[in-house]
Amino acid sequence: MTIRYVFLLLGFSSIFFSSCAQKSTSSIPSTIKKDKEMIQKEGLETATLGAGCFWCVEAVFQELKGVHSVVSGYTGGDIDFPNYKQITTGLTGHAEVAQLKFDPKIISFEEILEVFWSTHDPTTLNRQGYDVGTQYRSAIFYETEKQKVIAEKSKKEVATELWNDPIVTEITALGDFYKAEDYHQNYYTNNPNQGYCRAVINPKMEKFRKRFKDKLKTEEDYNIEEQKKNEKIYKTDAEWKAQLDEMQYYVLREQGTERAFTGKYWDNKKEGTYNCAGCKLPLFSSKTKFKSGTGWPSFYEPLEAKNVESEKDTSYGMVRSEVHCARCGGHLGHVFDDGPKPTGLRYCINSVSLDFEEEKP
Ligand SMILES: [Zn+2]
Repeated sequence: MTIRYVFLLLGFSSIFFSSCAQKSTSSIPSTIKKDKEMIQKEGLETATLGAGCFWCVEAVFQELKGVHSVVSGYTGGDIDFPNYKQITTGLTGHAEVAQLKFDPKIISFEEILEVFWSTHDPTTLNRQGYDVGTQYRSAIFYETEKQKVIAEKSKKEVATELWNDPIVTEITALGDFYKAEDYHQNYYTNNPNQGYCRAVINPKMEKFRKRFKDKLKTEEDYNIEEQKKNEKIYKTDAEWKAQLDEMQYYVLREQGTERAFTGKYWDNKKEGTYNCAGCKLPLFSSKTKFKSGTGWPSFYEPLEAKNVESEKDTSYGMVRSEVHCARCGGHLGHVFDDGPKPTGLRYCINSVSLDFEEEKP
């Protein structure tokens, strides 16, 4: 395996066995429905690529200009709704993959594949460095016949030019894709201080950035992405019902209130961010949480004023302001003017409306 771009690989995968396999979860991942309408409207295409541990594949492709989103997940296996624990056995047949939505007007499928060939080793069967197993196989899951033709051509031409040994990359039609558990998403971005991220992936990412510097997102691209994240979300009642559990639906969509001292966050003292349980918009920080004695998580200000909206509510013979998530409109709780300094406000929020993300040390 002598190659020209070996620098990209040293250490890129050698640490993944321990890092990627250390956690397991029994949570049920959700399938990603292809949002055909959005893709048609925005003219986006999908690319689904397996190149070893998906943390790294995701990190690389997130930085490419024209790539709108990257989701880590599983595909190519035999069971429905696999979880991480199951796929790490290598027995389900699933590959760890990153699924990209990209704008072919900005970056072509050919260009994406060039990055793909250059940032993993496509010559080792069912293995990337010390990561061994079918789940780490090199694979392109094509969505259209056109992608299949491009993938085969690229494998024959681009890949064989970069690598001396025969390319073992599988090229297969995309079947069911399952989104991986939440903690796998944005792994590199969310865990920059983790030892291996700092020591190993960082320098390797730098090399990738150098080689593909003309293809990277600019600050402006990131700003636009940020704006999009904050755009409003509209869903039908049926869609919300399918997404939320009964209590979440009652509070978020029917303006309900959970009973005091029953929620999971009123006494939560951990450091981190409280996101909207309906749409994951970051709403409150543990830094502004205070002990109110009410039995509901209480904050003296939101993370960003624009992320919450409030309106006057006069039910129950009280004057109070109802607080909603600015993106999905989900009902969060109320705001009162009897809070502590510096704002004097008390955002009294239902735990069930929140999704806490603990800050990683
Ligand atoms: Zn929301």
